[in-house]
Amino acid sequence: MLGNIIDNIIRIVSAILEFISSRFHRPEEPDTPGDEPSVPDDTPAYTVPFPKEPENPTATLDNTDLQSVIASWMVSREVPVAYRLFWTEGVKIQLSYQYPYAAASAETLRVWVNPVHATPGVVAHECAHISYRYLSDDDRIAWASSFDHALVHDCLLKFVSEKEPYMLHNYIEAHAEVYRYLGPQMPKELKRFYPKLI
Ligand SMILES: [Zn+2]
Repeated sequence: MLGNIIDNIIRIVSAILEFISSRFHRPEEPDTPGDEPSVPDDTPAYTVPFPKEPENPTATLDNTDLQSVIASWMVSREVPVAYRLFWTEGVKIQLSYQYPYAAASAETLRVWVNPVHATPGVVAHECAHISYRYLSDDDRIAWASSFDHALVHDCLLKFVSEKEPYMLHNYIEAHAEVYRYLGPQMPKELKRFYPKLI
């Protein structure tokens, strides 16, 4: 029943987002510094694919539609259909005042989101912490070096990390923030570190 409602919401939001994303494309990365197109200093060369959403100070447990937020996250970040049941049935995502912002428990597969911060981006961040649980110890070591490498070589990631420096706090938060702000537009060598999300 809940799955059906979410499926319907996903289909509607999907159509809207497909229209929006058809108007967005990842800028070409210059091969050498000398090839960079000349743009005025005040014009950003890149945009954050999924910018931080504003908080909603008037949101409460009663007036917040978490299911729509979850559906919007799954559609915008293109969560594969094969994994959507895992996120809607296997993981318990709920509104709560227990934390001022949000939290995730990878062990118990639970996510708590304060209504004020119930946005697709915050849900994406917390669910990335759940995904991280499925990485082996070797994967986690590889994630750290792959992230460091991409941060130097990928212009879009570098741009986003300068706008959202919390990404540089530690490798687990970096993992969540890369997914939150870049989603499927993250550097392709990082995609293998997002089980059940990409
Ligand atoms: Zn986090």
